[in-house]
Amino acid sequence: MTKEIRERLQRYGIRAKKGLGQNFLVDSNYIDKILRAAQLKEGAVVVEIGPGPATLTPFLAEAVGTSGKVIAIEVDSALQELLSDLARQYKQVEIHWQDALQVDYDAVTKPYLPADESFALVANLPYYITTPIIMHLLEGKFNYSHLVVMVQKEVAERIVSPPGNKSYGALSVAVQYYCQAEIVTTVPPGAFVPAPKVSSAVLRLQRRAVAPVELIDERLFFQIVRAAFNQRRKTLLNALSALEHNISKAELATMLTRLEIDPVRRGETLTLAEFARIANALVEERK
Ligand code: SAM
Repeated sequence: MTKEIRERLQRYGIRAKKGLGQNFLVDSNYIDKILRAAQLKEGAVVVEIGPGPATLTPFLAEAVGTSGKVIAIEVDSALQELLSDLARQYKQVEIHWQDALQVDYDAVTKPYLPADESFALVANLPYYITTPIIMHLLEGKFNYSHLVVMVQKEVAERIVSPPGNKSYGALSVAVQYYCQAEIVTTVPPGAFVPAPKVSSAVLRLQRRAVAPVELIDERLFFQIVRAAFNQRRKTLLNALSALEHNISKAELATMLTRLEIDPVRRGETLTLAEFARIANALVEERK
């Protein structure tokens, strides 16, 4: 595929822009793996962020067929001619010239989604805004069923990491709260043109039908998670008392002991369920 994509770039006078995270996927083995993980059915609605020179897009269009829809979001206007030609060839492809961070994903998919259906999202993400895009999708609570995204390997490892692991952090907790996360495959730099400096991985994030923990105050839960990871060397008790000015340290210590969570533990050892227990207890304590 490398030759084909290089020719396409040349034909349309396109050069990969580093600043827009343009590393094009040219290894069809990994395209197959992405498609398999995406499980797109005929008639499905799929969003693609950053179609670039249409390396993945025609495969998505073929997977959903003419009764489906591919909504592709791109910012690089140098790709206009190439992507307009693609949309003429595949009527089910619709290009939106928008910043992926600003998109209301429900608004762009709703016209094509049957009632009670959700969309899938597939993307080889621009690495300079990987985390903001994923968090925009998750926190926006858009109507997606699953996301299949190519990200830096290191980010993928952080996202799927269990507690106690070096990579475990606020990002792991946030993503695992909303989704079941798994690494589908790792991808070497040589699968892209131009080759990035880092290795990559394809992540599959399956939206959870039911939250893994019950929360009284979701915002407080995330505040605690951020505080606990802000200074990783701090004990949980110190992190909490930096957050809570109206509750004494002694009261916080008693609360933690009552919850059977050792106050000198560090945030990076806490499970989602333990963070949730603390957040819910704190709501009561604040009363
Ligand atoms: N899908 C192609 C592929 O797999 O070869 C290109 C992927 S390339 C890693 C990332 C794509 O995202 C580029 O086409 C880039 O122009 C686009 N992009 C960068 N920033 C964007 C943004 N804020 N919103 C939408 N697309 C963006």
